[in-house]
Amino acid sequence: MSEKDPPNPFEEIQRQLEKMFKDSNVKVSTQNFSDADPFSGDSSDGESSASPDAPDSDTEALEKIRNFHLKPKEIRDYLNRFVIRQDDAKKVLSVAICDHYNHVRQTLAGKSGAASEYSKQNLLFLGPTGVGKTYLMRSVARLIGVPFVKADATKFSETGYVGSDVEDLVRDLVKAADGNIELAEKGIIFVDEIDKIASEGGAGGRDVSGRGVQINLLKLMEETEVNLFSPTDMMSQMQAVMEMQRGGKPKRKSINTKNILFIVSGAFDKLSESIKKRVSQNELGFGATVADKDEDLSTYLQYAETRDFINYGFEPEFIGRVPVRCACTALSSADLAHIMTTSEGSVLHQYRDDFKGYGIDFDITPEAIVAIAEAASKEGTGARGIMTVLERIFRDYKFELPSTAIKHFEVTTDMIENPLDCLRALKAKNAHLQKDVWQSDVKRFAKSFEKAHGFTLEFKPLAVDALVAEASEKDRTIQSLCEEKFKDFEHGLNIINRNTGQTVFKLGKLAIEDPDKELSKWVVRCIENTKEKEKRA
Ligand code: ADP
Repeated sequence: MSEKDPPNPFEEIQRQLEKMFKDSNVKVSTQNFSDADPFSGDSSDGESSASPDAPDSDTEALEKIRNFHLKPKEIRDYLNRFVIRQDDAKKVLSVAICDHYNHVRQTLAGKSGAASEYSKQNLLFLGPTGVGKTYLMRSVARLIGVPFVKADATKFSETGYVGSDVEDLVRDLVKAADGNIELAEKGIIFVDEIDKIASEGGAGGRDVSGRGVQINLLKLMEETEVNLFSPTDMMSQMQAVMEMQRGGKPKRKSINTKNILFIVSGAFDKLSESIKKRVSQNELGFGATVADKDEDLSTYLQYAETRDFINYGFEPEFIGRVPVRCACTALSSADLAHIMTTSEGSVLHQYRDDFKGYGIDFDITPEAIVAIAEAASKEGTGARGIMTVLERIFRDYKFELPSTAIKHFEVTTDMIENPLDCLRALKAKNAHLQKDVWQSDVKRFAKSFEKAHGFTLEFKPLAVDALVAEASEKDRTIQSLCEEKFKDFEHGLNIINRNTGQTVFKLGKLAIEDPDKELSKWVVRCIENTKEKEKRA
C-alpha cells in the first residue's frame, strides 16, 4: 500500500485481533485483506462455492422449495388453521406465494426464460394493528420452510449510520437461515409501519429521510447484491476478518435479492380518512348517506388506489414495486373469541402450557371466553388485546398456584371480574391440602442439603409445623427459609461428624426457632462427650 492510499480498515481490525488473541492459541495470519475485501460490493466471485464449514446448500429447506407444488387453496387451508378471518388477504397471499415459489422452483431447475421476465409479487398489507398481517406471513414462511424477518420501517435511516440500514434486513435473513445464503435468497422480508416513511409533503409524511429509505428499499425489492458484512457494524467487520482467517475456499461475500419476497404493511390511518372522503363524495352523488362517526375507518382501505399512496407521500416507483395490495379487516369481539377457541396459535394454548408445566390445568366457560373477548376488543389493539387481558387475569394465579396443592381451576366470568377474590377463595377451599405441599417442600430441601453436604436432616413433625407457620407468616417459601436458617450448618455438622461419625441429624422445633443456638448446643455437647470418653480411656 503506498503512503497516499487511504487507510485499510482491515489492517486496523487485524491489529486489534492480533492483540486480542496474543495469549490464546488462535493464530492470526498476515493475509492481505485488501485482496478479499468483503465491502467491495463486487459480486463477481460472490457465486463461488461454499467453504467446508458453510451450511450444506442442499438442505431439506432448499429441497422443499425445489419440490414446491402447493396450490393456492392448500395454502389458504393451512392459514385457516391459525389465522381467523382475513379471507381476502389469505386469497391474495396464497396466489402470490404460489406464483413466487413456482417461479423460484423453475429458476432452481434452470428453466430458460424463468428468470428474465419475472416481476416479483411483493405485497402491501393495509389495516389496523394486531389483525394478523404478520401472523399470516410468519405462518406462510413456516409452511414453505423459508427464513422470515420482520422490522419496522421507522428504525431505518437513509444512510444507515444513524439507525439501521435497510440492507441489514437481508443480512438478518442470512442469520435466520443459519448462514445458508442460498436459502436466505428465497426468504421473506416483512417491513411494518411502512406508512410512517411516507415522505415529507405527502399527506402521511413525517420522516424527512423517508424518501431515502423508500429508495433504498426499492433497490432491495428490485435486484441487488448486498454485502454479507455491514460496513457500519464493527462486530460484522470482525466476523468478516475471522471468516477470512479460517482459510479454505473463499466464501460468498454477498447475497442477491432477486428472489426475496417483500411484504410491506401499515395501518395507514390518515389514508383511510382521505379515501373515505373520496368514496363518500362519489356515493353521495348516488344518494348514499354519510356513515356515522363511530364507524371503523379502516374498512375504506380496501378502496385504496395507486394515486392514494402517491398523494400520501410514496414514490411512484416504490408503490409500483408492491403490486399486490390487500386490506386486512379489523377484528370484532366475536372474532377474538373465535381466535381464542379455534386458532392453533391461540395465546390461550400458551397459558394452558404454562400451567401444565406445574401440573395444573383449567377449564374455561363459554361465557368467560365472551367476556375476555369483549375486554380484549376494548383494548383497541386487535388480537394483541387478548394477551393483555389474559395477563391481567392470570398474573396472580401464575405466581401463586405453583406453590399450592391446587391442580385444577375454572375460569368463569366471576374470576374475570374479581381475579384476586376468586384466587383467595380457591386457596381457602384447598387449604386442607396445603400441608402436604409444605411437607414435600421440607423433604425437597432435606434432599438438596444431603446432596450438597452428605448429611441427612430429619425434621420432626413439630419442626415442620414451625417451618410452615413461619413461612406463611412471612410469605416465604420453605426452600428459601430453610436455606437461610441452615446456611452455616454444614460447618458445625462436620465437627460433630469428625468426632462421632454421625451423619443423620434430627431437628425439633428449637432447631427452627433458633438454628444457630441449637447447633452450638450440639457441637458443645459432642466435644464434651468426646473429652469425657478420652478421659475415661
Ligand atoms: P399485525 O396485524 O399488527 O401484524 P400480528 O399478526 O402480529 O398483528 O398479530 C399479533 C398476534 O395476534 C399474532 O401473533 C396472533 O397470535 C394474534 N392474531 C392477530 N390476528 C389474528 C387472526 N386474524 N387470527 C388469529 N390470531 C391472530
